Amino acid sequence: MRKPVIAGNWKLFKTKNEALALIEELAPLVSGVSNVEIVVAPVFTVLPTLPAALAGTGISLAAQDVFWEEEGAFTGEVSPRMLLDAGASHVIIGHSERRQYFGETEETVNKKVKAALKGALVPIMCIGETLEAREAGDTFKVLERQLRGGLEGLTATQFAPVIIAYEPVWAIGTGKVASDDQAQEAHAFIRSVVTELFGKPAAEKVRILYGGSVKPENAKGLMSRPDIDGALVGGASLKGSSFASIVRYGE
Ligand code: PEP
Repeated sequence: MRKPVIAGNWKLFKTKNEALALIEELAPLVSGVSNVEIVVAPVFTVLPTLPAALAGTGISLAAQDVFWEEEGAFTGEVSPRMLLDAGASHVIIGHSERRQYFGETEETVNKKVKAALKGALVPIMCIGETLEAREAGDTFKVLERQLRGGLEGLTATQFAPVIIAYEPVWAIGTGKVASDDQAQEAHAFIRSVVTELFGKPAAEKVRILYGGSVKPENAKGLMSRPDIDGALVGGASLKGSSFASIVRYGE
């Protein structure tokens, strides 16, 4: 059995005090939840503020990006060791917004995934097709390229901690959620590529999250599909009540 992961991507929202207020609202609403792993991903500057507030809540902390070098002359970057130092255990890598606006490529995603693993952080590696690619019938081609590129050079053992997030770009922040069938089809395909790359045991273990306009109303349907093991939630993670409802999708 794969333990579901519900992760909130706060993107470029929430100052320190706003983040603390959100955790204060969220923590009691998810207390006692033990069948789901809960993760929140604030901006870098907020990371060191949260571990004290998260202590005893069972909520893990993620960064939204990482650089692959440990230290050096790389102005503006943050290394895996620094994220650990700030209290993060997870890191989102290759989000479509980073691919679209900040020049993230398969090669940089691959370097970041390897650096995160080396630094004992759990990578949440994002992949997903644009609307153009979907309409051209290229969804699987894009997913396979992003998977093979992002995971290149890893052994099955190294791959084991990785979480994959399938986020169709056309569904992110648009209110257009993929249908349960569309999401399941993509997730099953992703699992089949992982089988080819790392073997069946690794594919059966890997958690594949769906992301793209997940809301309390659609979480249960998506999560009922066999290959959907959680959600990466943007907009709906910014309110404690809506994020908690998604965490509690099964109740
Ligand atoms: C995301 O930021 O990863 C995301 C899926 O956003 P939203 O839930 O707002 O579509």
